[in-house]
Amino acid sequence: MQGEGASLFWPNKDHMYDEPDSMMIRVTVPKNLMDVSNGRLRQVENHPDGSRTFHWAVTNPINNYGVNVNVGDYVHFSEVYPGEKGNLDCDYYVLRDNLDKAKAQFKDVPRMLKAFEHWFGPYPFYEDGFKLVEVPYLGMEHQSSVTYGNKYRNGYLGRDLSGSGWGLKFDYIIIHESGHEWFANNITYKDIADMWVHESFTTYSEPIFVEYHYGKQAGSEYAIGLRRNIANDKPIIGPYHVNASGSGDMYPKGANMLHTLRQVVRDDEKWRKILRGLNQEFYHQTVTSAQIENYLSRQIGRDLNPFFDQYLRDVRIPVLEYRLEGNRLSYRWTNTVSGFNLPVKVQAGEKELWLEPVTTKWKTTKTKAAVTDIKVDPNFYVSQKKAE
Ligand SMILES: [Zn+2]
Repeated sequence: MQGEGASLFWPNKDHMYDEPDSMMIRVTVPKNLMDVSNGRLRQVENHPDGSRTFHWAVTNPINNYGVNVNVGDYVHFSEVYPGEKGNLDCDYYVLRDNLDKAKAQFKDVPRMLKAFEHWFGPYPFYEDGFKLVEVPYLGMEHQSSVTYGNKYRNGYLGRDLSGSGWGLKFDYIIIHESGHEWFANNITYKDIADMWVHESFTTYSEPIFVEYHYGKQAGSEYAIGLRRNIANDKPIIGPYHVNASGSGDMYPKGANMLHTLRQVVRDDEKWRKILRGLNQEFYHQTVTSAQIENYLSRQIGRDLNPFFDQYLRDVRIPVLEYRLEGNRLSYRWTNTVSGFNLPVKVQAGEKELWLEPVTTKWKTTKTKAAVTDIKVDPNFYVSQKKAE
C-alpha cells in the first residue's frame, strides 16, 4: 500500500519518518492454506477447527508499506546463499502448480545477491532471511519477503524495458524488487516526495546487475536504453508534506542521472565504495533527499547542488552548446539551472577530451588538430548543439 497509506488495513503510525524496530505478525488462515509474511516463521499454531495461526517475527526496523500478508496454498523450497555476512537463508513460496517453473526462474536470486552485495554491500536483513513469495499481481519490495508475479518470464512480463536486448537476460521483478532491499527497505525516504531515493537507485540496480554478469558495455547499453521511457513531464521530486510523489521519471531518468554521475566520478572502484558507503552511512534509517545529495557531494568531492537541482527539481535536459573554428573549440551549458557545471567527456576526432563547461559563459580550448564535429560521450544524459 505504498503511498495510499498502510492505515487502510491496519492501525499504525501512518508516516514514513519513523519505523518500529521489530514486529510480530500473527495471521490466522483456514485449513490447507498458509500465510507468508516478513521475517522468520517462529511458530504455527493448530486450532481445533483446522485453521492455523502463523507467527512471523521481524527483528529489524521495517517501513509500514513493507509489511505484507500472503495467504495461499503455497509449497516451499529453499537454499542457503554464502554471502558477505555469512549464510543467508533464501526461502521461496510458490503455488503448487508452479514449483518446477519457480525452481528454474529463481536461479536469478543468487545471481542478484552476488551482483548487489558486490556493488551495494551486504544484504541488509540477514537476521530475517530473504524470501520470494508468489502473488497474483506483478510484485512488490516487501522487506525480507519480496512478492513475485512476473509469470516466470524474463524481462518485465516478457518485455525488455531498455530495448537493448539485455533486459531479457533476467527476471525484472526478481532483480528490481530485490534491489529495493538496499534502496527503500534499508534506506527509506521520510517523505514520499523523495521517492527517487528508492526508485532511481533501484532502477540503477538493473544496469549494475547487467554489468556484473555481462560486462560494462552491456550495463551502459541497458542504462542508455531506459531513456526511451523518460517523459520529462514534471520534476522527479514531488511537493513535500502532502504525501505526493513526483514524476515517474524517478525510474528511468533517475537511473540515468546516477549513470551520468558515475561518469564524473571516473573511478569505478570509488563509485562502488560510494554506493556501499550509502548503505552503511544510512543503515536501517529514514532519510531526506538532501542527506543523500550531501553525502554524494562530500564523497565525490564536488558541489553537486546544481546537478541535483537540474535532474531532480527541473525537467530541462542540459544542452552542450559549442562552436568549432579550426582547432578552437568553444563551449558552454545552456537550458540549465544557474551554476550548472557538470564536467563532460567528448570525442573530438581521434581524441577524448574532458570539458568543464559552465552555464552561460563561453570557454575555449584547443583540439589537437582541426575537427569538423565533436560527440558527447553517450553515457552522459545531456544533449549537444552546434552553434552557427
Ligand atoms: Zn521499484
